[in-house]
Amino acid sequence: MKAVVTGGAGFIGSHLTDELIKIGVEVHVLDNMISGHLNYVHPLAVIHHVDICSAEAKQIILQEKPDVVFHLAAQADVERSIINPKYDADVNISGTINILEACHEASVKKIIFASTSGVYGNLEKELISEKDEAVPVSYYGLSKLTAESYIRLFYQLYGLSYTILRYGNVYGPRQTAKGEGGVIAVFLEKIKKGMPLSIHGDGEQTRDFIYVKDIVQANIAAMERGHQETIQVSTSKRTSVNHLLKYLMQIHVSTIDVVHTPARKGDIKHSCLDNSKACQMLNWKPQVDILQGLTETYTFSHNKNNVDKT
Ligand code: NAD
Repeated sequence: MKAVVTGGAGFIGSHLTDELIKIGVEVHVLDNMISGHLNYVHPLAVIHHVDICSAEAKQIILQEKPDVVFHLAAQADVERSIINPKYDADVNISGTINILEACHEASVKKIIFASTSGVYGNLEKELISEKDEAVPVSYYGLSKLTAESYIRLFYQLYGLSYTILRYGNVYGPRQTAKGEGGVIAVFLEKIKKGMPLSIHGDGEQTRDFIYVKDIVQANIAAMERGHQETIQVSTSKRTSVNHLLKYLMQIHVSTIDVVHTPARKGDIKHSCLDNSKACQMLNWKPQVDILQGLTETYTFSHNKNNVDKT
């Protein structure tokens, strides 16, 4: 079995690459290293330093003819998408089309796409389902939703099989304080530097934090299951920022200083995704609870060299 992982030098893609290699898959990583790290890439993976928008990236897929393509490379920073919507669309929409054309021409059996809860925008709902309307409020959410539509149309026109996975807020070792779902990475970086943590508003805002290794397992399950489906990958559990702080104090042992700042305009109060479709269709369920995941992430963050190979 041969796989291409676009964005395989990034936070989630590097963990996915590790697991694929562990289960005996030959992995080719396509990454331009804009936010990726060479030292996160498993030594047995073949690294191609290319942009997903390039003819070269397409050529590699045509030459390698992988069985499956995990498409994770993206402009994944919400704020950056607001500042530079064209760049966001170039990478997330045009880049995806380039990868889709390559997959079609190379007769790739399946593409598995990293999408996001960001497609739903400010949906005020206890538990979001895949059936809920997606109304993005950032260009990032919009570009991911548009990429999803291209993927579905490539299936309709050419039969290119797919699974679209919409992730909750992913956290874990190797995540940087930038990009999506970054509050845990931001907090850990500040704790490491001995700086106070900023809590916006009352701290009662909640997110559905999912550990990176659970995301990896959902991707692995999607190789065989969930064909032509859009599936949320989440814990279906809400964790407030105040609770996060409580857990971090427990792990860090000594005190953590906190600064309360006004709530940020446009911030979503609650975000939680129903994972019952993932449990049923992927035969998957999250294995790592928040305290365990936070402990592993904290340990990684406080290890000076920051190159884990767990
Ligand atoms: P990341 O920034 O760590 O990884 C993205 C990788 O893509 C990086 O290695 C980067 O160098 C590479 N890349 C970016 N633009 C590229 C281009 N034009 N050509 C080639 N490579 C390029 O981000 P991540 O958090 O690991 O996210 C991975 C995927 O998961 C993204 O598609 C993101 O939208 C999605 N996602 C992430 C989260 C989260 O909480 N982290 C949540 C939902 C969805």
